[in-house]
Amino acid sequence: MSLPNLFPYPYRPGQEDIVRLVRDSVRNGHHIVMESGTGTGKTSVALVSSLEAVSGTPNKIIFLTRTKSQQRQISMEAKAVSEKTELICVPMQGRGPSTCPLVQNNRELSGGTSEELSRLCEVLKKGNTDAGRCAYFEAITAEKLESCVSFMRSSVPDPEGFRDFCIVSGICPYETSKRMLQYADVVSAPYAFFFIPNIRQHFLEWLGIGEHNAVVIIDEAHNLPSYLRELDTYRVTARSLELTMNEAEDNGDPEVYEGITAKDVVTMMQDILYDAQTEFLVRENDMIPQGYLQEEMMGRLGMNTVDIRNMLISLLGVGEGIADAKRLKRKLPRSHILTLARAMISWTVCSDGPYVFLVSGGENPALEAYCLDPRDMALPLLECRSTVHMSGTLEPLSLYASELDLFEPELRCFPSPFPKENLKVCYVQDVSTKYDELNDGGETYERLKDYVISLVNCVDRSTAVFFPSYSLMERFISDNVPALLNREIYYERRDMPQSELMEQVTEFRCNEGGILFAVTGGRISEGLDFPGRELELAIIVGIPYSRPSAKQDALIRYCQTRYGKGWDTAVKVPAVRKIRQAIGRLIRSEKDRGIAVILDRRVGTLDGIGAVPVKDPVEEVKRFFS
Ligand code: SF4
Repeated sequence: MSLPNLFPYPYRPGQEDIVRLVRDSVRNGHHIVMESGTGTGKTSVALVSSLEAVSGTPNKIIFLTRTKSQQRQISMEAKAVSEKTELICVPMQGRGPSTCPLVQNNRELSGGTSEELSRLCEVLKKGNTDAGRCAYFEAITAEKLESCVSFMRSSVPDPEGFRDFCIVSGICPYETSKRMLQYADVVSAPYAFFFIPNIRQHFLEWLGIGEHNAVVIIDEAHNLPSYLRELDTYRVTARSLELTMNEAEDNGDPEVYEGITAKDVVTMMQDILYDAQTEFLVRENDMIPQGYLQEEMMGRLGMNTVDIRNMLISLLGVGEGIADAKRLKRKLPRSHILTLARAMISWTVCSDGPYVFLVSGGENPALEAYCLDPRDMALPLLECRSTVHMSGTLEPLSLYASELDLFEPELRCFPSPFPKENLKVCYVQDVSTKYDELNDGGETYERLKDYVISLVNCVDRSTAVFFPSYSLMERFISDNVPALLNREIYYERRDMPQSELMEQVTEFRCNEGGILFAVTGGRISEGLDFPGRELELAIIVGIPYSRPSAKQDALIRYCQTRYGKGWDTAVKVPAVRKIRQAIGRLIRSEKDRGIAVILDRRVGTLDGIGAVPVKDPVEEVKRFFS
């Protein structure tokens, strides 16, 4: 069978194989799980081959991404393909500052969640309350939509280009993108559009298809199992309870059930959280008994399960009333009471599922029902016409496929076509970030510091130092390591807003020879590209194993029972993927060269990293660049 002629570039070695595999698998309605190394052009090959496969069918292509930069990449590839064939690619995003002009310049609204903004938007679209009507919605006419369709065809815009067109036309970007979906051949969207059940239902309706007509391509799929676990996890934190208490007070402490007020419920939850900490908490987080929350509520309130449920439903109604009153005043319809009631209701119904129940300490203690199994949330994928799961770091593929329970998937690995000699990965054998060693009186820690200082200072190349945790990075900073490094340092800090992070990254990119302190598995090591000389040396301090905790123990036990590989699935594989992602920042094109030095002897026991031991990493780095 001939290859599609839509591919907009000269083929690199291996790309034709990927095109053939994806096209045939999508045509045959299969699931494909593929690891596709740097330079295989996974976005463009997946796009072109699936476009050819769905041609002449009612099927549509849904690209699911984690970041806006991945959405930009999809739009860019679709634009290149549009030189060969006409197509409409819609970059869909949730309501927020970039898609709702009303939010853009409003500090209160710009902090709202997609769901809160959706509630407000419903009122503003109807325009039958004191909140008035949204002018950007009113301006959407058949004529403007027609001109938007022409624009989409001729320009194939990225998310910013689409927004700018809508703003200049005076129409709402979010509502317009919804209306463009019916014309779309391809849509790029955040994971939430497909994996949150009620959003998926609307999303597919707007697209005019059912699951069986959806070809879903998941980019950076290595994150999907943990994303799905998190999506089905319920948490009540000390801070959220404080906010809920304030809201209850501000709203006259309404009664929620037979003499029990909203404040009584919050006080009870605060007491339960405190008592759980006292009784069960030893480590960062620890397990509480499965029915602990329900039993404590019944005991403290003297109620049975039916009464408790009714009380929570009533609490939910109070929260909805507060949110509704706010949206009628054109305010952010946020209610902490509503959020608490939802979490508690979800918690009470998840007792029989694959959950572990935890109490955690720290700055913001919490009670948590943590989902151990991503399969339920992944079920809609099994209804789709075909799914393509791809990432540069997805091995072991069979483990990924079993985590999601994919039926008879095709598993393939496509290595990077770039010259192997352009990347060197080595490790030292006399240090590790194992807890016992890091706290062995300072010897190992001092050696780690010396390695970082001498490696950074031995060449004047752009260098990233990836730490396994923020706390170790902060320990280096408080021990004055930055003062001993001979160039400007930029930081990825804990809880840093995205805008500040991007400022740091931009400055690092512009300052050749700069130093970047970041975290392995963080936003920089997993999501950003540093082509050319923007990054040439990566120092990876230790292996980013998750900290021992009850949550991790429970996940290991669960994965051991399900896959017979508890430690591998829950701890080792995620750590290897994080290291490989960090190393991957070095090489983004066939001309890039880079060296990674891993400061941890344990890497010698891990498959898939390909690191070689060296005695003198400083000499190794100098030699590489000489
Ligand atoms: Fe925002 Fe108005 Fe668009 Fe709703 S219709 S998302 S309120 S601009």
